[in-house]
Amino acid sequence: MRVAVIGVGHVGLVTAACLARWGHDVIGMDDDEAKVESLTAGNVPFYEPGLQELVTEGVDGGRLRFTGSRTEALDGTEIAFVCVGTPGLPGGAPNLAYVEQVGVEAAQYATGDLILVEKSTVPANTGVRLRQVIQREQARHGATHTISVASNPEFLKEGSAVHDTLYPDRLVIGAAIPSVAERVRDAYQPMLDGIGDHPAHDCPVVLTDLQTAELIKHASNAFLATKISFINAVARVCDLVGADVSAVADGMGLDQRIGRQFLYPGLGYGGSCFPKDVDAFVHLASSVGYDFKLLEEVRAINVGMRDHVLDLLRQELWHVEGKVVTLLGAAFKPGTDDLREAPAIHLARALVAAGATVRIYDPVAIPNVDKLVGDLGVVTFTDPIEALRDAHATIICTEWPQVRALTPADFSGSLGYPIVIDGRNVFDPATMVAAGLHYHSIGRPRGGPIPDAADAPAATTTMP
Ligand code: NAD
Repeated sequence: MRVAVIGVGHVGLVTAACLARWGHDVIGMDDDEAKVESLTAGNVPFYEPGLQELVTEGVDGGRLRFTGSRTEALDGTEIAFVCVGTPGLPGGAPNLAYVEQVGVEAAQYATGDLILVEKSTVPANTGVRLRQVIQREQARHGATHTISVASNPEFLKEGSAVHDTLYPDRLVIGAAIPSVAERVRDAYQPMLDGIGDHPAHDCPVVLTDLQTAELIKHASNAFLATKISFINAVARVCDLVGADVSAVADGMGLDQRIGRQFLYPGLGYGGSCFPKDVDAFVHLASSVGYDFKLLEEVRAINVGMRDHVLDLLRQELWHVEGKVVTLLGAAFKPGTDDLREAPAIHLARALVAAGATVRIYDPVAIPNVDKLVGDLGVVTFTDPIEALRDAHATIICTEWPQVRALTPADFSGSLGYPIVIDGRNVFDPATMVAAGLHYHSIGRPRGGPIPDAADAPAATTTMP
């Protein structure tokens, strides 16, 4: 098929490269000239494991190319996947202006019948509005092609995006007309049947209507965020009663109705999706008359985890003003250099505001850290030991393998004060305490008496 991908960011580029792998003739279009230039030269402008190889394969094989031109992108295209951003607006609603713009341009530039597929995460009924915009624009320009709208929400995870797209758990495709949804499924047929060295991956395909497909995406992300906040709330109770949240999660997760995934307490969710998608779902529900209080609490618990970690730090340091605090990991999760809504960045801002000197270690995200918070005086490192040297305390923010590989001796031998706040429950409490570290994690007993800290006053919720 002749396929276009509009917006070649984290989702669009992976989608485009995978569609090319499945043998389609793919053109990726983006507004960002620098991105198009970089991709045309064969360079992926962000970090995503396996993506560079896949893009190179597609470009070298002549099945994948990039442009900034709408005319070129939509000329003769049968299916266009819309992968533009839908960032959150201050009131919680997503900004759908980029999606609307694609609809307007599709009406102007399509040279034949076209299916416009929403892959961007959008609230229910966006497709209906998009169809309306397209029809109005077509009427204005006297265009007569049939432009249909379908929804095919994306479930990939940054850090494993290539694998998630090549081997998805399911495909969800919604359209008002069943034959339109079936045609979108045809784009995935090579993946389902297997092609070249890509083995058949016969995952379930949910064919449904437009609104239902859109809602499946928001409901899925909101549910996953709920699972994270639920175990974080359980972790707080575990702290108070002396139980171990890891064992609680193991015990819960053995129930197949619950499952172990996403029952990992810590600094909470971040990234470009969960925070804005929870906000957008609450906003959508409210706009149609339902007060989704459950999700408001999910959000509050998530933000509260950052305050909790800062309280643990303050309990140890007394004042953070004038202290050097090292954040291990900046990315919102391992495997990506994406800093959108990363808990570490929120912590860095709060600590700088409280008068601390902040150091940040990250194996891949440092260029983005420098761009985002360099002006705050944050000092950046690509060597974790150097970052820890003589610091007053460290907070583990991202469970990178490089952070997991550190030993208790790395901490005790490098830190100025032996204080480790483990915001991702990476280390064994007993081992860390036995090594003389003042070690705190989330929802787990400390593993023995903390030297000299037994009488420390309880934390308060405000920073000095
Ligand atoms: P991104 O910011 O990385 O990429 C969006 C791209 O769209 C940018 O390159 C931007 O220049 C381009 N763009 C914007 N308007 C355009 C226009 N009118 N024409 C052409 N290009 C345009 O965003 P992303 O992370 O890829 O997310 C895209 C969508 O996918 C969002 O709705 C997001 O919620 C959803 N999503 C993201 C993920 C994820 O993990 N990142 C996962 C699932 C779904």
